[in-house]
Amino acid sequence: MQVPSELVKRLCSEAINAKFHGFLLDSFVSDSKTSVWCPQPGCGLAVDSATAAGQGKFVTCGQGHSFCLECKHEAHAPASCDCVKTWLQKCDDDSETFNWLAANTQVSAQLSGASRVVGGLTP
Ligand SMILES: [Zn+2]
Ligand SMILES: [Zn+2]
Repeated sequence: MQVPSELVKRLCSEAINAKFHGFLLDSFVSDSKTSVWCPQPGCGLAVDSATAAGQGKFVTCGQGHSFCLECKHEAHAPASCDCVKTWLQKCDDDSETFNWLAANTQVSAQLSGASRVVGGLTP
């Protein structure tokens, strides 16, 4: 159904008018194959992935939020989307996070190396 926006303006209150235009914008972004909403809560800006500034699948919205077009999380170069998903799952369970870090990151390998040195100095 096509509703002339002039008619809507005349018949509707300000609030409904605003909603109507929000709806038009919504449907525009949903219809566009290259437009995506910025996932940052409260941002409300759409980014055209075909023209947006950024690198590869990482784009930046008009308010400077960088995010990943594939997983919609914050830009996470050079990690893969799968890596981020795993990370976020692990973060859901805080008690596991440190163990996961210890098993998977170089930083914690250095840390455990450091603690070995400290251990060696202890009588
Ligand atoms: Zn944003
Ligand atoms: Zn991603």
